[in-house]
Amino acid sequence: MRINNLFNEKKMVFSLEVFPPKVTSSIETIYKMLEELKGVNPDFISVTYGAGGAATSNRTLEIASLIKNKYNMEPVAHLTCIDAKEDEIKEILRNLKNEGIENILALRGDGNPDTAGRSNDFKYASDLIQFIKKTDDFNVSGACYPEGHIDCRNLDKDIENLKIKQEAGASHFISQLFLDNEYFYSFMDKTIEKGITVPIQAGIMPVINKKQIERITTLCGSNVPKKFMKIMDRYEHDPIALRDAGIAYAVEQIVDLISSDVKGIHLYSMNNAYVAKSINNSIESIIKSVNK
Ligand code: FAD
Repeated sequence: MRINNLFNEKKMVFSLEVFPPKVTSSIETIYKMLEELKGVNPDFISVTYGAGGAATSNRTLEIASLIKNKYNMEPVAHLTCIDAKEDEIKEILRNLKNEGIENILALRGDGNPDTAGRSNDFKYASDLIQFIKKTDDFNVSGACYPEGHIDCRNLDKDIENLKIKQEAGASHFISQLFLDNEYFYSFMDKTIEKGITVPIQAGIMPVINKKQIERITTLCGSNVPKKFMKIMDRYEHDPIALRDAGIAYAVEQIVDLISSDVKGIHLYSMNNAYVAKSINNSIESIIKSVNK
């Protein structure tokens, strides 16, 4: 199933993101997580690709294939292009095709010192989107940034660049995480003004670790609301309370987004089946009601 068709069939699409385990860890950890996720039934599961084409990237194909061929769910394979050569991308596309994978989330990626400067074949994600569309018949999605991408501090300009990805053939966008829905709503208004017409899914990360959110928000430049920080500070030394407060915060964000007619929710599961299941249980009836 192509992701673009899902958005025609459903008012609200719900998906999960998983990442491949480190090469030093057994692939069994992901089997275990997928087993534990039985009953959640997301519309698709996306599988991340290692920064700069790192060794874990090979596992993206393996896990996407597992999702498709063993668990009969729809995978979206992430693919980055920074420092990659056209021939390498062509080979990855061939391998994805051979495994029956139809959906790709095409990204630029972030520079990796180990691979920096080895190729200039692709500069931006839009180059990769165009290349994939020219090479084979995949459905291609892209990433977007409600608070602006960290390299482009002008949100209007960043949205103009997003439009280039739409024009290159992206059929849908998934957003970076945000902790304050108002940024997402204001971003959505701007995308409409700038002529973005493809569906945009809101990326939500349930935060269950204070250090993790500090690292991520520094990397991606997302604002951290006071209300959120209060929770982190209050429960940082009580992991169970922090996990439950993080889940409750994410559920509150999601309920507000769905009630505001967002086209989809993409849950950054952080490979934590308990958290994904808890959130799914809390929002299942709401999603059903919207899709009735
Ligand atoms: P682009 O769309 O190329 O944008 C990068 C920057 O270039 C932006 O500032 C943009 O405004 C600017 N730009 C774009 N086009 C032009 C143009 N034509 N002219 C001038 N400027 C331009 N990283 C991974 O390594 N692996 C993953 O699996 C992964 N998955 C992700 C999933 C999601 C949903 C998101 C939101 C991010 C993910 N990332 C992943 C991180 C992503 O690779 C980084 O955020 C990266 O810095 C930008 O990637 P992009 O595809 O958005 O780049």
